[in-house]
Amino acid sequence: ALFVLGSFVAACSATVDRLPRAGESLQAQAFLLEPGGKGLNLAVGARRLGAAVDGLFGIGDDALSSLAEPALRRADLPVAMLHRFPGPTGAGIGFTDAAGENCLAVYPGANARLGPPEVRAAGGRIAAAALVLAQFEAGDEAVAEAFRIAHGAGVRTLLNPSPFRMPPPEILATTGILVVNAVEAAAFGAALGVPVPEGRGEPAAFDALAGALLARGPDLVVITRGADGALARPAGGPMLVQPAFQVAARDSLGAGDAFTAGLAVSLAEGRPLAESLRRAAACGACVVRREGVFDALPDRAALASMLAG
Ligand code: ADP
Repeated sequence: ALFVLGSFVAACSATVDRLPRAGESLQAQAFLLEPGGKGLNLAVGARRLGAAVDGLFGIGDDALSSLAEPALRRADLPVAMLHRFPGPTGAGIGFTDAAGENCLAVYPGANARLGPPEVRAAGGRIAAAALVLAQFEAGDEAVAEAFRIAHGAGVRTLLNPSPFRMPPPEILATTGILVVNAVEAAAFGAALGVPVPEGRGEPAAFDALAGALLARGPDLVVITRGADGALARPAGGPMLVQPAFQVAARDSLGAGDAFTAGLAVSLAEGRPLAESLRRAAACGACVVRREGVFDALPDRAALASMLAG
């Protein structure tokens, strides 16, 4: 199974003509409350593509926590993934404008309370996984512990450091696949003192960043660039360039999670990197052409029709 560490959040999103400015109240055209969180998106995305999925999500004991169990059942995910803590469930608030651009803030809530003890309790499931996926809606100590267990058992790991913070060296050292978007690539560049092109840079301009990241542990660095597609640089190999699929973008929220789920499933199925990248980009495109994330994550049929063009 793919093991997904954290996170579950109640995701609120408002559709607006343009993103609100400081101090301003806008009327929204639509409002959506859906089960979300990067961990849930990855788990649902992978499950819908046919992968067996396990994992660990923290939820609270408030009203929002009641969204979790039905969401997991609906997605055919094991409810044993949920670990309940007293206190608030994670929650996010996002805005999407008419051009499909978005901004959001996420409060981690119970996700931040998952720590080494809860991760160790799932150690057997982690050691038996095909791939362990983490993002930064979970805390450093939980991610480090999960990756330490995976590393010790020879299980491959994937990190999407979002929301961005600089990963501690021990996490990078035990990361196999590092997936970053343009914002995270720029933040890594700034933290590591490596130049990163702003906006539409040539693929070769990301070589220095990919090299600096590969030197810190990962064996594959993937950089997603929205409508410009994605780049992938394996250790010891050249940079691969994957263009985006042409779609009418309605809501870019969740594109990165869909991409990462597609990449993880495809690599876990043993597909070559170039094919896996193409499938990942198709999954991202499936999500941006629809509003919301949960229902937009593609199943195998939706993926196949996007791949067929
Ligand atoms: P994030 O959601 O993390 O910011 P990106 O915006 O880079 O991630 O999107 C991830 C992937 O989804 C991209 O690499 C691309 O393949 C696909 N994607 C994103 N936006 C579009 C778009 N407007 N059209 C087609 N594909 C897209």
